Amino acid sequence: MLEPRRNVPLAEFTTWRVGGPASWILEPESVDETLEALQWARANGHPCQVIGAGSNLLIHDNGLPGLTLSLRRLQGAELDSNAGVVEALAGEPIPTLARRAARAGLRGLAWAVGIPGTVGGAAVMNAGAQGGCTADWLEAVRVVPIEGGESFELGRDQLEFDYRHSRLQQGDLLVLSARFRLEAGHNPQELRRETNSNLSHRTSTQPYTLPSCGSVFRNPEPLKAGRLIEELGLKGKRVGGAEISNIHANFIVNTGNATAVDIDRLIGLVQDQVEHRHAVRLHPEVKRLGFADAA
Ligand SMILES: Cc1cc2nc3c(=O)[nH]c(=O)nc-3n(C[C@H](O)[C@H](O)[C@H](O)COP(=O)(O)OP(=O)(O)OC[C@H]3O[C@@H](n4cnc5c(N)ncnc54)[C@H](O)[C@@H]3O)c2cc1C
Repeated sequence: MLEPRRNVPLAEFTTWRVGGPASWILEPESVDETLEALQWARANGHPCQVIGAGSNLLIHDNGLPGLTLSLRRLQGAELDSNAGVVEALAGEPIPTLARRAARAGLRGLAWAVGIPGTVGGAAVMNAGAQGGCTADWLEAVRVVPIEGGESFELGRDQLEFDYRHSRLQQGDLLVLSARFRLEAGHNPQELRRETNSNLSHRTSTQPYTLPSCGSVFRNPEPLKAGRLIEELGLKGKRVGGAEISNIHANFIVNTGNATAVDIDRLIGLVQDQVEHRHAVRLHPEVKRLGFADAA
């Protein structure tokens, strides 16, 4: 059994680089270790919060009680380049998987190359970009109830996928692994070109050099959150060390010393101003953890 660590700052576990300490943390590297970690939390009466790469998380400066179960080390993937079937553990970085799939001549994941999350996080969030999303290619996930029980498979049709939404956001299940069905037999060089061009488009239109969590707000379709924010002249607006990016108005960047509360206040300020001007309430895509009104 892995040794749980105490009072570990979660800022190191999020791409925003903010977040107070986890009372306890475990970083399993195998499915068995993951199941043992869940058992440890139950045996000790600790609540358990599962996280992936922390690229869509705003964790409060006061941290999180109980066990934080970080799955970013639960890595590994098997690709069948003839059948197009890809099986990946939950912590496998989705950009790494996208590149491996391209090398194997498997088409389907080129959109994922600039999304710095894990396979598990992508399934939970139905992550997507540039016209593609997880739901288009995911066949099934293997999950285990956080409160105890055997693992089982949920097929795509059971996952209630929608724009940046899945049934997995209920938070009662831990995703151990996912199975994708991609298109086999494509030219790896062409797939690599597509993947690279997707990445360079993103790095030229989005702020990749400062800590962020990508787009903060869901798009109130058919409107774009970034455009509504930009129209209000809010680019560059700051609260403490948090700033609305000058490159992309739906990104809030940490300029160096932001706290989670700075970021949360800036989120609230944007919501209020957009609602006042456009009568549309923006909803965060980001998951807020440890806040009294956590969503
Ligand atoms: C620079 C940048 C660009 C981004 N661009 C995009 C984009 O283009 N499109 C897009 O959709 N997103 C984008 N994101 C947001 C983010 O990368 C995605 O939402 C990603 O899917 C989150 O994965 P994660 O592993 O980091 O999950 P986390 O942020 O760690 O967690 C997200 C949610 O999933 C849950 N979760 C994570 N893993 C598991 C698991 N194994 N089992 C159960 N629950 C789990 C967590 O509890 C939490 O509720 C971007 C982020 C950054 C920093």
